[in-house]
Amino acid sequence: MSQAEPLSQDQAAAVDPATATTRNVLVVGVGGQGVIMISKVLALVCQMQGYSVKQSEVHGMAKRGGSVFSHVRYGGQVWSPTIPQGEADVLLALEWAEGLRWLPHLRPENGVFISDTQQVVPPFACRNRSIGAELAYAKETPAEIVERVTEGYALAAGRMADEIGNSRAANTILLGSLSTTFDFPLEDWRKVIGMFVPKGTEDVNIEAFELGRKWIEEARANPERATDPAPPAPHLSAAPVEVELEITEAWCKGCDICVKLCPERCLVLDTRQVAKLTDPKACTGCRICEWLCPDFAIAVKHREPVAA
Ligand code: SF4
Ligand code: SF4
Repeated sequence: MSQAEPLSQDQAAAVDPATATTRNVLVVGVGGQGVIMISKVLALVCQMQGYSVKQSEVHGMAKRGGSVFSHVRYGGQVWSPTIPQGEADVLLALEWAEGLRWLPHLRPENGVFISDTQQVVPPFACRNRSIGAELAYAKETPAEIVERVTEGYALAAGRMADEIGNSRAANTILLGSLSTTFDFPLEDWRKVIGMFVPKGTEDVNIEAFELGRKWIEEARANPERATDPAPPAPHLSAAPVEVELEITEAWCKGCDICVKLCPERCLVLDTRQVAKLTDPKACTGCRICEWLCPDFAIAVKHREPVAA
């Protein structure tokens, strides 16, 4: 793996946005992860630098699990909103398999690949819902993919977001990583992030942004660090596990998706219209509810059983 040097301040100042070459950024993921938020922040920051910007987006299903992608192109004069195959200067993936699926769009000679190692396994890949059943999901490891591209990084943004106490901030961590491929003023990034994140979460999102930048800067200084270990593939362990369902009541909007799609029929909406597990013994830990909840309100934990 080699890496492109970011422009110095002097070089950046010498670039005239009106005549600059067009640069292409592809942001991909699945519904609910914040793909559109990232591309909107990026498009606005590019505009603030004086560039012409085109942004296009395709939303997946209106629930988690559907593929979502957004093309952002900026430069002196941008005519087309879509990035042809092999011409993305940066590919940012919020979900591992989506990143792999879009790899042919990356510019082979100098494209930068940045991906969360998080795996959001589509519900239809879960053919057999019993514990230990095999999933139809990409088997390539982060280290294998990072080796294959000119410049690549695979970070556990989901875990890092959990560690700072807001699992929804993984997208801002990845935005911070993405920001290191531009020489735009940090103040502009911070200002625009403050405009797009939910009120009251500005501080944690700025912390997440800085964390993502720091991770990439450290990886550039020490290429051995360009991949975080992949998290254990969910639901693949053949070992017996105990299942625990965590429902964050404050995030549940009572949409009923998890209740309707739980294959074991062990969820209901209570009198406050909040999801509740009625029969813990019936829950197989299949994660369908976790993957489909549009508000990240359910987390399924698999634990080694405690020895008697
Ligand atoms: S509650 Fe969730 S994890 Fe448990 S069986 Fe239902 S959908 Fe699967
Ligand atoms: S937990 Fe999620 S999917 Fe279930 S009712 Fe609440 S918001 Fe909807």
